[in-house]
Amino acid sequence: LQRADGTVGQTIFAEMTVLANRTGAINLGQGYPDVDGPDAIRELAVDAIRAGHNQYAPGDGIPALRTAIADHQRRRYGLTVDPDSEVLVTTGATEAIAVTLLALAGPGDEVVTLEPFYDSHAASIAMTGATHVTVPLRVDPADPGRGFRLDRAALRAAVGPRTRLILVNSPHNPTGTVLDDGELSAIAQAAREHDAIVVTDEVYEHLVFDDARHVPIASLPGMADRTVTISSAGKTFSFTGWKVGWLHGPAHLVTAIRTVKQFVTYSSGPPFQHAIAHALTDDSVPQRLAATLATRRDLLCEGLERAGFGVSVPRGTYFVVADGAPLGHEDGAELCRRLPELAGVVGVPVSAFCGRASDGGPSATARDLASRVRFTFVKREPVLREAVERLGALS
Ligand code: GLN
Repeated sequence: LQRADGTVGQTIFAEMTVLANRTGAINLGQGYPDVDGPDAIRELAVDAIRAGHNQYAPGDGIPALRTAIADHQRRRYGLTVDPDSEVLVTTGATEAIAVTLLALAGPGDEVVTLEPFYDSHAASIAMTGATHVTVPLRVDPADPGRGFRLDRAALRAAVGPRTRLILVNSPHNPTGTVLDDGELSAIAQAAREHDAIVVTDEVYEHLVFDDARHVPIASLPGMADRTVTISSAGKTFSFTGWKVGWLHGPAHLVTAIRTVKQFVTYSSGPPFQHAIAHALTDDSVPQRLAATLATRRDLLCEGLERAGFGVSVPRGTYFVVADGAPLGHEDGAELCRRLPELAGVVGVPVSAFCGRASDGGPSATARDLASRVRFTFVKREPVLREAVERLGALS
């Protein structure tokens, strides 16, 4: 995260995983599955290694994966993507975000994100030298069941002539919000009005629950030629460590981003690309994962409620945001530091996904969400059951 002095600090996820390992607490902090994706996909990577795909892949990704990405976007969303000029394979979505921002934004530009925001988004903006402007997601006290929603008046105020990029993330980490049609249209309209480019992080695109539907903002009218869409295989197939990510967008933007990627990683690991090129042709794996995750989400949300937390039920992602205030914990960061000792569980304070005010103190959204903690439910059911039982000790 960008610190008040303008430097980039340690990622909260590394910090929380160290805390979990040191204390032996259950790690519901960093979001990664405790069970790997399917053996059949794992074997594809092993086969690719044995078949000799071990030297540099083409810089923009192997043709089979670029084609599979374009097919996936057409099949699921009706998007037309040219696999040769409009797709770039990256080392995870994190690289895709970093190289996109480095290629498209710089000092004097403004980059708008939602707040809370994923920590690498803020760090990447800081590395470009652009100014980070935020639009809060808020829970309406009159209708808390809708969860965290975009503040549209704040969006209109935030986007203006200096806005170069609007960096969207849906399904959203940490809140689990899936932006609805009205919210996406409002962002698209603001981008068109001020000639801004939209960069959209959709890594949880398959992991949506109940009646929620993921709509890529690139599929809205007039948006395909001003949107860079980013996703990855890590969450979709439960191989977060493989770091197979990608982006697609209009050729002139992808060309600029490819130029940056050449000098960051040059190219990404070929055996994993081969495996994912094949995996991406079949939606049944992520469909099953989404169904399993919905059950685990319920298990964790119900447990957190029983333990006395206020819970905003997420419609997507790996994460739920819980409010410690009803338990008397007004400071989520303090609660997270003490949680291993109080309950043997690790979570991440939502304030870690928030910015700073101009005086260097917490932003208005950070203060608004000070008592909230993010927990992940992408863990086996017995682990979640044990975690909720332990969290019961808080009340
Ligand atoms: N995306 C994961 C999370 O939000 C963590 C990824 C990481 O540790 N960099 O927990």
